[in-house]
Amino acid sequence: MKLAQMGELSLVDGIRKGFGGRKSRGVIAGIGDDAAVLSPPAGRKLLLSTDMMLEGVHFDLGFVTPAQLGFKLVSVNVSDISAMGGRARAVLLGIALPGQTGRKVIDGIMEGVRKGIDHYGIALVGGDVSSSVHGICLSATIVGYAEKPVMRSGAKAGDLIYVTGPLGDASCGLELLKLRGRTVDFERPPRGPIPWDLAGPLMQRHLMPLARKAPVGRINSMIDLSDGLSIDLYRLCTESGVGAVIEKDLLPISPALRSAAELLGKDPYVFALDGGEDYELLFTAPEGKAPRGAVSIGAITESGLFMADAQGRLTALYPKGYRHFG
Ligand code: ADP
Ligand code: MG
Repeated sequence: MKLAQMGELSLVDGIRKGFGGRKSRGVIAGIGDDAAVLSPPAGRKLLLSTDMMLEGVHFDLGFVTPAQLGFKLVSVNVSDISAMGGRARAVLLGIALPGQTGRKVIDGIMEGVRKGIDHYGIALVGGDVSSSVHGICLSATIVGYAEKPVMRSGAKAGDLIYVTGPLGDASCGLELLKLRGRTVDFERPPRGPIPWDLAGPLMQRHLMPLARKAPVGRINSMIDLSDGLSIDLYRLCTESGVGAVIEKDLLPISPALRSAAELLGKDPYVFALDGGEDYELLFTAPEGKAPRGAVSIGAITESGLFMADAQGRLTALYPKGYRHFG
């Protein structure tokens, strides 16, 4: 059945049946009324963020399954809340679909959204459905809370720069996916030119990224790595009015990225510096005990953006990540 026959109302009905019944902490009313009602925890600040995914701009159903898409939509939104030092609580989902969209695609998207909200322990509390003239558009608005939100603008000269995990995996995964040329079912490992135990985890990081939990401790500034280390670090430094030096040798490169890059004949550091969608957190903290689960990759300085090699030679670091209009 297609959306055109099913109708928007029955789609909302289905979502309500599937997601509406379950109560979640702090959610007084979810799907079904004119607006959701949440009760914010005492003393916390409210965090709001929204992200859109458009067919043809952000995704192509020839490469990503509807379920992977739904999961990713939730993850990228949760990541923005983590990047503020907060915890995600609830999400609103906007869906616009062409009339000829099949049931399988719609069910797949909702299955992925369900996996995502279950994984992060959040609630789907509302949304909107519309028909679309061209392509699928998904939009999620996320609600979270933080006791003390961590801004991009708080970095100070002398801070150490940390990341929560390996860099470049997702963009290398995208390159492998483009080579493959079609979707991947992680339950049924396909054959390909690059061994699956290398390619699988890298492609998974692109297709189904996991949002990190906000680090605890004295964090001065933070951003999530959605567009690439070089551009996201540039953004953080610009907001803070500071500079940075990254140590090339300290950049965490996974063994899988190292091997896959070699097989592709590419430099793993290009993926790590300029590749997007890792959704690791980049944060700065005063020198001292390293926050748990994070590795230091450099330091904040007064000005300029540089990378130091093993001999301490500096080269300028240019923001080269993904930019929509640039
Ligand atoms: P209204 O016309 O008042 O905006 P709708 O008919 O659009 O109401 O939606 C009815 C209820 O279903 C609302 O609570 C709304 O938040 C929820 N809802 C609609 N679309 C979605 C969706 N895609 N995901 C989750 N909830 C939705
Ligand atoms: Mg509405």
